[in-house]
Amino acid sequence: VKQSGKNNYMFFDTKMLEKLKGKVEIASALREALKTEGFKLLYQPQIRVKTGELVGFEALLRLKDQKISPDLFIPVAEETGLIIEIGKWVTKEVINQIAVWKEKGLKLKPIAINFSAKQLNDEKYLEFLEEALKEKSVNPAYIEIEITEGILLERTESTIAFLNQLKGIGVKIALDDFGTGYSSLSYLTFIPVNKIKLDKSLNDKFLEIENIKVMDSLISLVHSLGLEVIAEGIEEEEQYKRLKIGGCDYIQGYLFSKPLAIEEIEKIYNHNFLE
Ligand code: C2E
Ligand code: CA
Ligand code: CA
Ligand code: CA
Repeated sequence: VKQSGKNNYMFFDTKMLEKLKGKVEIASALREALKTEGFKLLYQPQIRVKTGELVGFEALLRLKDQKISPDLFIPVAEETGLIIEIGKWVTKEVINQIAVWKEKGLKLKPIAINFSAKQLNDEKYLEFLEEALKEKSVNPAYIEIEITEGILLERTESTIAFLNQLKGIGVKIALDDFGTGYSSLSYLTFIPVNKIKLDKSLNDKFLEIENIKVMDSLISLVHSLGLEVIAEGIEEEEQYKRLKIGGCDYIQGYLFSKPLAIEEIEKIYNHNFLE
């Protein structure tokens, strides 16, 4: 290899990088991370539209020392079943974080956790969650579980039963990525959810004339079902202003804040984003 010169090294490096990004390598990076505290969570602020208050967060998973994004490693975690262990780690970490804030005397704010459909295979999840909450004396109302409608594709009845159990222990449920996939409005009448998260793809388009009416009606409809609505992926001031007129409850997006590490979050914990 050596005598063939610089270019071949580069070729080799590129190939190695490609390989590193392969599923097998991602899977082993995930296994390694589970063993070595190699995961961390970032927290993205959620803002009340009317007042600008920071009212809660979404926990978003990262691999500490790697540039692999969740869009790449979450699917691998799901395919390999590792998502079950990872999901438990995320849950525990979030509950610990709330306990830390409680200890510091901060006014608690709910944290949303992403829950993959594959985690339904974890029959012990509910027990695990309850136990972790009890252990840290954290009120379940500060936990919000984000599901996507994909969770309903199979085993609808047992899934609804699971969601009702979650609700039963006092945990909140949000329907994530609404406006992608099947997004049948009829879902909203039979799945037990508290909140609808309007997907970025929907929010990127609603300022166009015809879509504004659809957005306003959607928000009214969600409200008429007694649910709250949060718009995600909001990057533009214009979107915020229009969503305020439309009566949207909450906003999450780069306009106000990217997902942040804990130290950053603590600096803005009582921040008002409109002041
Ligand atoms: P998601 O649940 O839809 O999360 C929202 C994604 O949009 C996050 O990407 C967030 O960083 C990004 N985002 C937020 N605001 C904006 C914005 O204004 N503009 C743009 N362009 N993006 C914005 P992230 O953190 O890369 O996560 C990607 C996906 O990975 C998540 O999508 C979720 O499906 C999955 N994921 C992340 N953490 C977890 C986890 O702990 N468990 C599970 N099961 N899935 C997770
Ligand atoms: Ca989410
Ligand atoms: Ca989403
Ligand atoms: Ca998504």
